Amino acid sequence: MIVTPQKDAVATAADALRAGKLVILPTETVYGLGADASNPEAVAAIFEAKGRPRFNPLIAHVADSAAAEKVAIFDDRSRALAEAFWPGPLTIVAPIKNRFAVCDLARAGLDSVAIRVPGHAKAREVIAAFGGAVVAPSANRSGRPSPTTYADAVEETGLATGAAIDGGPCAVGVESTVVSVLGGQVALLRPGSVTRRELEEIVGPLAERAEEGHRSPGRMALHYAPDAPVRINVEQPAEGELLLGFGEGVGDPRWSLSPTGNLREAAANLFRLLREADRTHPKGIAVTPVPNDGLGEAINDRLKRAAGFVG
Ligand code: AMP
Ligand code: MG
Repeated sequence: MIVTPQKDAVATAADALRAGKLVILPTETVYGLGADASNPEAVAAIFEAKGRPRFNPLIAHVADSAAAEKVAIFDDRSRALAEAFWPGPLTIVAPIKNRFAVCDLARAGLDSVAIRVPGHAKAREVIAAFGGAVVAPSANRSGRPSPTTYADAVEETGLATGAAIDGGPCAVGVESTVVSVLGGQVALLRPGSVTRRELEEIVGPLAERAEEGHRSPGRMALHYAPDAPVRINVEQPAEGELLLGFGEGVGDPRWSLSPTGNLREAAANLFRLLREADRTHPKGIAVTPVPNDGLGEAINDRLKRAAGFVG
């Protein structure tokens, strides 16, 4: 009898990532819901699966430091931190080098990227087999605790995934420490299992307070906003305004979030179109109404922020 060899779980997960599907990925911190960081539609699917009402920047996971250096710009200090704590639960926010490796939606439009090499060998195996960066927020649905076992991860978001890897219970169980290394300063954005003391042993005293531009998107203010004023829920653009449409027959298809009215496509296009629209230096950017169900809630949240309604 000829037995067709079963592809192993790692290869199956790497294939699923390549196909734009989501994957349950074990890490040493918590179970992640992973997607190809370069694929905006796959990243949009993460927000959809988690039911997150807003787009916050996600952590890009890479297999090793060499891969990280292709994605982000490192300096002496970020390199020293990476050498000291990778693979492991330290996330470094650094200027983005390759905007396509970690797409705009994954970075919430920021010019920086949060990146780490996970300490879990299975996670690194999947990422290496895939060959790119994998964004992987915790695999829970929004507002629920982060899963630290395979069973919990599958129960939370398993239905939305194309593959799932059982890596046993998470050794650390809390999220990674997040530091920013930007503009000549190292600042602690989120405490985690790597302590302030351990960080200071490597890079000296941390910045007292994160400068504008380091601030954790949890605190929101730094999110990308176009220079042009943004108006939302607009039916008819004013003179000199560029209209960003949504749905069939609304405005110029070139400037449509989704000509077919698909929310996942609209999420995938949102940051790129805001950026490109801004680059044409319009008097203003007018956005037609986007329905508020599913991903629409996160899209509208982002648009409200761009329009200055939310701090
Ligand atoms: P999670 O993936 O859910 O563990 O959360 C990602 C964490 O990284 C959040 O605390 C974000 O605020 C933070 N983060 C991700 N990207 C950036 C960035 N470019 N600048 C500052 N903080 C970031
Ligand atoms: Mg989480």
